[in-house]
Amino acid sequence: MVDLIGQYHKIKEDVDQCVLEVLSQANFIGGEKVKTFKQNLEKYLHVKSVIPCANGTDALQIAFMALDLQPGDEVIVPAFTYVATAEVIALLHLKPVLVDVNPDDFNIDCKKIVEAIGPKTRAIVPVHLFGQCAEMEQINKIASENNLYVVEDNAQAIGSDYKFSDGSIAKAGTISTIGCTSFFPSKNLGCYGDGGAIFTNNENLASKITMIANHGQSVQYYHDLVGVNSRLDAIQASVLNIKLKYLDEYAEARRNAADYYDYAFQNHKDLIIPFRNQHSTHVFHQYTLRVVNGQRDALKEYLTLNQIPCAIYYPLPLYKQKAFSKYCEDVNFLPVTDQLCKEVISLPMHTELNSEIQNKIIEKVLSFFK
Ligand SMILES: *Cc1c(COP(=O)(O)O)cnc(C)c1O
Repeated sequence: MVDLIGQYHKIKEDVDQCVLEVLSQANFIGGEKVKTFKQNLEKYLHVKSVIPCANGTDALQIAFMALDLQPGDEVIVPAFTYVATAEVIALLHLKPVLVDVNPDDFNIDCKKIVEAIGPKTRAIVPVHLFGQCAEMEQINKIASENNLYVVEDNAQAIGSDYKFSDGSIAKAGTISTIGCTSFFPSKNLGCYGDGGAIFTNNENLASKITMIANHGQSVQYYHDLVGVNSRLDAIQASVLNIKLKYLDEYAEARRNAADYYDYAFQNHKDLIIPFRNQHSTHVFHQYTLRVVNGQRDALKEYLTLNQIPCAIYYPLPLYKQKAFSKYCEDVNFLPVTDQLCKEVISLPMHTELNSEIQNKIIEKVLSFFK
């Protein structure tokens, strides 16, 4: 699905030098590399504070810890997302309220957010799924009318630009109370291990988040809050410092690859190509088709048999997962999510695709339907 080796070879000299520098200084935790990355990402995102942490799931957990929600408080989450989004909410004894998504861009459906708001609702978590932003202007409006926090799960859309109706632009993850991201290797900005970060423009939240990620302390051995241990290490930070310079270029390569796929599949009667919404740029974390003739699973089997990588994100809606059943007793079906789980298939999408590789993939997809 991704070609991290091909990408590494293009930046190998820089990466090797930076990693060796960390090794020779034995400065593995914290230090200059992590600080520089924090500042570089703040500059890139035009956000006041970036707080690096150990992974994207921790980023979400720390964000919710910083908001001081009480056990039983409700958080509205799209049902069509990766498990981490809802998992941390449950872990903190909050209640994930799973709502349906849009059939076109697969992001949380604003009408369903409004319907799900009740006396215990405290926050909304839009997930910028597969690389383009949810309708943040609308979501922020709903949030401010109902006095709710908004936490963006930006693990899949770092670098995407959100366009407000007045024409102004903000980077995904910086449009709400707190933004969270992951630097898992296959993400658009991936390191060579685990990593994550939290973004905010609120200075009080920034210092609280920094403390929570570091055992609740701002002065060593004086713990004002119950926190966690969640750090980005210096080797990962040094890799990220290099890859951040190429992030826009990487997004461009992904968009070009998506255009190439689109051209091949756009008029196919059994396929729907990815929708590109008006309010954001798409950074194509995934290139996800909908197979509308009921043959999705057969297509997956056929591609796998023919050595074409493909994946189903996601096969089972969160509200049907055993772990979340107790939060979803009142949810019987979510028609769009249910349908997407049966129809979606993601094709290889990364920075090293070219027409030769894509032609092979396209040829196999099309030959399945012949
Ligand atoms: C990858 C991902 C996460 C979690 O990130 P990790 O670094 O793997 O913990 C959270 N939410 C979404 C939508 C993701 O895609």
